[in-house]
Amino acid sequence: MTTDTPTIVWLRDDLRLTDNPALSAAVQRAQPIIVLYLLDEVSPELRALGGASRWWLHNSLASLDAAITKLGGTLTLRRGAAREVIPALVAEAGAGAVYWNRRYGRSRDIDADLKSRLRRDAGDIQTNGTGIDVQSFHGSLLFEPWTVLNGQGEPYRVFTPFWRACLEHDVRAPLPAPAELPAPARLAGTSIRSDVLDDWALLPTRPDWADGLRENWTPGEAGAHERLETFVSDHLVDYHRRDEPAVPATSRLSPHLRFGELSPFQIWEQVQQHRGPGAGKNAAKFLSEVGWREFSWNILYNFPELHRKNYRPAFDNFPWQQPDAATLTAWQDGRTGIPLVDAGMRELWHSGYMHNRVRMVVASFLIKNLLVDWRVGEAWFWDTLVDADEANNPASWQWVAGSGADAAPYFRVFNPELQASKFDPDSEYIRRWVPEFGTADYPDPIVDLRESRQAALAAYEAVKAQPVNAQPAKEQAADPQ
Ligand code: FAD
Repeated sequence: MTTDTPTIVWLRDDLRLTDNPALSAAVQRAQPIIVLYLLDEVSPELRALGGASRWWLHNSLASLDAAITKLGGTLTLRRGAAREVIPALVAEAGAGAVYWNRRYGRSRDIDADLKSRLRRDAGDIQTNGTGIDVQSFHGSLLFEPWTVLNGQGEPYRVFTPFWRACLEHDVRAPLPAPAELPAPARLAGTSIRSDVLDDWALLPTRPDWADGLRENWTPGEAGAHERLETFVSDHLVDYHRRDEPAVPATSRLSPHLRFGELSPFQIWEQVQQHRGPGAGKNAAKFLSEVGWREFSWNILYNFPELHRKNYRPAFDNFPWQQPDAATLTAWQDGRTGIPLVDAGMRELWHSGYMHNRVRMVVASFLIKNLLVDWRVGEAWFWDTLVDADEANNPASWQWVAGSGADAAPYFRVFNPELQASKFDPDSEYIRRWVPEFGTADYPDPIVDLRESRQAALAAYEAVKAQPVNAQPAKEQAADPQ
């Protein structure tokens, strides 16, 4: 009788069963499969999740567990430092393989360590024919960062040529979900998943502020696909109106992408297959926004300190003002007296989401009109957004600040009143979130927009004309983690 050597599929930001290359490879290996999610709040390479992300993660894992159970499998939940838990699980399960889909932030150092350690301890099956098979796969970005380089072999720093170069590559078709997920006998029934999930305490309790999140979102793979299909069939046609916050013209797929409940390959295919009115232009524009996600991850790959450090070091000398508590709270609560800013901040607090145009306006207001360091705003978004993304969030904040790659020029200060008259001309969005707008209950502005704009421009003079970060690209990974 031969003994099972189970395959561990370690899921991270890819909480899906369809188009999951690591999972497909495990199915091919034809051994029992341990689908693992590990809550690692210890490894220093990982940024602690914000409150809204923790809410999403809980619900996404519950949904994943139900989907795996339907296929006859088990979702194994563990907690602790990946460098310790994964080798321990390999030993406990007698695993013969560990597969994962690659990640591209600082966490790839963890993956690199694990890959070499598991191979060293157990022997590398690829070279020795015995030991453990440890492999990583390409699943979360359309184009892995080291595959899109300019003529000098360096990463792009400007979006348009980056995306043009991306579009020269082929995009593979999505992979199907496994038909079944046989779990190994040895680990089966070790714990009741819902109890473990409750122990992790990812949901807010005192107070439970998640009503607005529940109203707006269905975390999990099924919810993600429903949203993708509805968007492509009903709203893609309106994508040219994507800057109008009152219009449901964008996909709202961002949290699903963030947690990998659907892959960009699935989006790509669905959009390509769609042949509705205005499909060409709207589809190309929509896919180029997905391209911005690729670009942000490309930046993070080459500059892993993106949420801590200015991409352009010239901004290290910027004279940020320390905000007083009342000013910062007014911004966070949406009580600045600037209607579009307040509407956006209240949308964020209630729903865990904010329309992209309004994100730019509230960020510009904090950074430029209040002269607050972009990292303060980035941290607030990190805590409150359901789509808080390790790459997109700091890249976008740095874009608004002018300190990022291909950033808005420093002198571009969004005027929230002009933005409102252009993109929310009937104040529909503003009234939706700020019901007291236009009444005596609505506060006066906390800052004079014209004067503060002048102050920002003066401050920016100090950092003007200094060069872009000249950090060299990481060496191309021969064996990417
Ligand atoms: P759609 O217009 O339908 O776009 C489709 C997908 O493309 C999005 O789901 C997203 O994955 C990607 N995308 C769209 N615009 C951008 C962009 N400008 N940069 C990178 N990717 C983009 N996006 C996040 O996913 N997470 C964040 O934490 C985040 N923080 C931001 C902070 C600021 C200050 C700003 C200005 C933007 C931020 N964005 C972030 C980008 C953008 O606002 C959101 O991706 C978008 O609003 C999500 O809505 P949607 O899914 O309907 O977008």
